[in-house]
Amino acid sequence: MTETSLFSTFARADIAFERGEGVWLETASGERYLDMMAGIAVNALGHCHPHLVAALTEQAGKLWHVSNVFAAPHQERLARRLTETSFADRVFFTNSGAEALECAIKTARRRQWSKGRPERFRLITFEGAFHGRTLATIAAGGQEKYIEGFGPKVEGFDKVDGFDEAKVLAAVTPETAGILIEPIQGEGGVRPVPPSFLAFLRRLCDEHELLLIFDEVQCGLGRTGHMWAHQGVGVTPDILASAKGVGGGFPLGACLATEDAASGMTAGTHGTTYGGNQLAMAVGNAVLDVVLADGFLDAVKVKGLKLKQKLAALVDLHPAVFEEVRGDGLLLGLKCRKTPAEVVAALRDQKLLAVGAGDNVVRFLPALTVSDAEIDEAVVRIEAAARALGQAGVAGEKGAAA
Ligand SMILES: *Cc1c(COP(=O)(O)O)cnc(C)c1O
Repeated sequence: MTETSLFSTFARADIAFERGEGVWLETASGERYLDMMAGIAVNALGHCHPHLVAALTEQAGKLWHVSNVFAAPHQERLARRLTETSFADRVFFTNSGAEALECAIKTARRRQWSKGRPERFRLITFEGAFHGRTLATIAAGGQEKYIEGFGPKVEGFDKVDGFDEAKVLAAVTPETAGILIEPIQGEGGVRPVPPSFLAFLRRLCDEHELLLIFDEVQCGLGRTGHMWAHQGVGVTPDILASAKGVGGGFPLGACLATEDAASGMTAGTHGTTYGGNQLAMAVGNAVLDVVLADGFLDAVKVKGLKLKQKLAALVDLHPAVFEEVRGDGLLLGLKCRKTPAEVVAALRDQKLLAVGAGDNVVRFLPALTVSDAEIDEAVVRIEAAARALGQAGVAGEKGAAA
């Protein structure tokens, strides 16, 4: 007999949470953890935000799901609000980030096809990217460890190393349909793409009639203090994938597109059973009620700056543990001189939850509702973890010398 009935796909920490409130998570035995990862940017408004709980429970008593073969006023409302906050004219609702990316990829390919350019189906992608775990999105992310052993890689993704204009130019071929990029790489290690590079991609797409796709599953929906990360940069895509924060913890994703970019996605070309169901739409609208309220995003900017400055001070104080702070708004990362696993474990000893990323980075992406006092408390705990790690390092060196 095995100890678990689950697939062994996750290396799970041995802590189980039973309830949550705001940025706090509690185990069955009443241990409280300060949650500075928010389900990896999912619980954008913290755990059990009263407005979200009310919206979900009210909807649960009315209607959960009807087929997408019927009119969808509940989807129209959220779609309209999302387009009003963005460049987009059209929205397709999904249940996850990878599905939003699948829709984005299909939308770009189909746009080229419908323009009479069926040979254009390839997307230029970037080293360090993460776009999800479906067969197409692992090919788009291009990370060998996620692709290995799953049969032939889905065709049509050309990975470029670094945010390098010459390499992108060299990667454009007559088969290129568009360019897919995260404005801030999340899993890749909180790596913001230089604004000038995004502007270059925009110009290139305009010149060659390519579609520019932004994956804002992690960096979007207020995380940077802008509704969408690219709005802080001033470069607009044709297609955008959203998920994570947009549902505040309820499974919800969305593919946003301009009228023109979406024009190939005609009746019958794409579909979903659950996507856009009543429960998801109710929660999505409730999330927007809060995020779009006057002053909310400005407060995120201020809190992000405060946390970033405090993390920068910790880098100065603990150069043997931390190397640099990076990121924007409340999507911040500390590049570490220890492994992310060691740092995350040391933080957990201080009852603080953070999550590792590529490039030796530990990410901090708390709920956007985190208070100043909670940021102060987080920094106290991160500092305590850094001291413990620093001492362990010294003890280790002494041990090695002895
Ligand atoms: C999490 C993530 C995804 C995948 O989202 P899922 O909901 O896990 O499918 C895609 N892109 C980015 C940038 C992400 O952070």
